[in-house]
Amino acid sequence: MEINLGQGYQPGSGNNPADNVLQEIIPNTLVGKSDELFALARKNSLWTLSFGLACCAIEMMSTHMSHHDFDRFGVVTWPSPRQADVMIVAGTVVKKMAEPIKLLYEQMPDPKWVIAMGSCATNGGPYYRSYSVIMGVDHLIPVDVYVPGCPPRPEALMYGLLQLQEKIKQDARSGDAGE
Ligand code: SF4
Repeated sequence: MEINLGQGYQPGSGNNPADNVLQEIIPNTLVGKSDELFALARKNSLWTLSFGLACCAIEMMSTHMSHHDFDRFGVVTWPSPRQADVMIVAGTVVKKMAEPIKLLYEQMPDPKWVIAMGSCATNGGPYYRSYSVIMGVDHLIPVDVYVPGCPPRPEALMYGLLQLQEKIKQDARSGDAGE
């Protein structure tokens, strides 16, 4: 005697998943988490604050120029902290610049990121233990990416920026969008 297993049942098709609603109604649709979509937009549209402290800033400026063309990664340099979302700390962080650096960082809207460019911004560099220099900008503000070198070449800064883009993407996946 044949057992009735339900309308639409076909022998041999029991382990195939049914078409889901999206495949039936709106095929070729991508579904993603909003955090990841926002992160995708943010990481490809980073506005860096136009601000430099010492010799590393010259390398940073050259990274923005036509030969290296930071713009192709979506990076635009911006004169106001009110719209900037990345601070590249390029140069020696002397103690008298501590308050202005903190103020600029606090004026930037969330989410925001910081790149410590060069040995001075990372740990004092050639001025290690100098009476007038802070031993790394991370004593003042949180740093996301460190770019080594004295000074780092533009290619090194570009690599650091790519690492920051990757971090923004990974943070969104893990639920830490930096806000
Ligand atoms: S790391 Fe070297 S190049 Fe950069 S600001 Fe310091 S001394 Fe100048």
